[in-house]
Amino acid sequence: MERKLQARAKINLGLDVLRKRPDGYHDLRMVMQTVNFCDEITLRATEEEPSIRLSVCGGESAKEEVPADSRNLAYRAAQLLMEEFEIRQGLNIVLEKRIPVAAGLAGGSSDAAAVLAGVNDLFGLGLSKEELMTRGVRLGADIPYCILRGTALAEGIGERLTCLPKAPEAFVLLAKPPAAVSTKYVYTHLDTHFAEIRHPDIDAQVRAIREGDLYRTAALMGNVLETVTVPAYPVIGRIKEQMMRCGAVNAMMSGSGPTVFGLFDDYDRAKKAYEQLCSGTLAKDVFLTTFFDRTDDILQQEKNAW
Ligand code: ATP
Repeated sequence: MERKLQARAKINLGLDVLRKRPDGYHDLRMVMQTVNFCDEITLRATEEEPSIRLSVCGGESAKEEVPADSRNLAYRAAQLLMEEFEIRQGLNIVLEKRIPVAAGLAGGSSDAAAVLAGVNDLFGLGLSKEELMTRGVRLGADIPYCILRGTALAEGIGERLTCLPKAPEAFVLLAKPPAAVSTKYVYTHLDTHFAEIRHPDIDAQVRAIREGDLYRTAALMGNVLETVTVPAYPVIGRIKEQMMRCGAVNAMMSGSGPTVFGLFDDYDRAKKAYEQLCSGTLAKDVFLTTFFDRTDDILQQEKNAW
């Protein structure tokens, strides 16, 4: 028995931080969007003693940056369900890592979400999407969204989700500079100058998405975490400028960064921007993709894939 899964990356079209909570987390309002760029995961049930084996492939950097043991979110997702349902078989997980690590693209959360869905399917556990989400949030705040996917408003710590209609179509250029940005660093620094932050209008952006207006959706893009990262890592601002010079409708950092995404309404301009970034030194990883839509999922299910 085997399942092949695609664990897609996400970007934030809008990201606002409302307040720091007494438990140390932050209350957020985010417009989330899945993109068609993914890690590939293969799950195989084995007849061995109950045990989980994980191997990570996808180049030297993936092997260095991503643990292949119980620290890996994909491993922990499988463990969570297999222990609860007392599965008496073993599981082999092969994780082909393509999404850059610690990049603001929720790669680890998406791997965990795919494994939850895959284990549920492989061992016939019969859990609904909502039941998977309730379990997923124990491993990470972004995991319920990575199970839902598509366009959504995420509130609370990111786990309170409202489905939105498909975002207006665009070409999405992703570029990660060769910098490692810790999420903890970003939130700690945000807290120190919280009073001066300019908050994006998330409600207006949600309305623009409902109206199918790409230009208004893009004009309303805003990420308060840029207040910390853009001054600390000038390369982020330079990638944004380059994308804008190449004709992006708008460009912004995703999540806590450092990946920058640009939205384009024209494939040729997007391709030219992609080529320029690939041949320059600002970005280490560059990808050109599109938005993933939840209704694509129905087509996927027909092909027996998650
Ligand atoms: P977010 O956007 O949710 O903040 P991110 O894209 O910034 O996520 P990830 O790539 O998910 O960050 O990984 C952050 C850390 O989690 C890494 O330092 C890595 O060691 C660890 N990790 C655990 N499991 C995974 C996984 N399956 N893939 C990538 N990183 C993982």
